[in-house]
Amino acid sequence: MPVQFRGRDTASDLFKPGERCHLAGSYLCETCRLADRNTVVQVEDGAIFPLCPDCTDMDMGWRRREMSG
Ligand SMILES: [Zn+2]
Repeated sequence: MPVQFRGRDTASDLFKPGERCHLAGSYLCETCRLADRNTVVQVEDGAIFPLCPDCTDMDMGWRRREMSG
């Protein structure tokens, strides 16, 4: 069955530590964001997403921070 990746599924926008980055940029820790912390890492194209330095939990995800303005 066909797989669609075009949807606005929020979970698919999250990148887990250990996943490979396909688009260099600033990524915001979603877990930190929910906790009112602003933890951002710079990830290069082809690099592996790190663990969040502020989260002791592996169960976190990075979300690409959109540049506005
Ligand atoms: Zn975090």
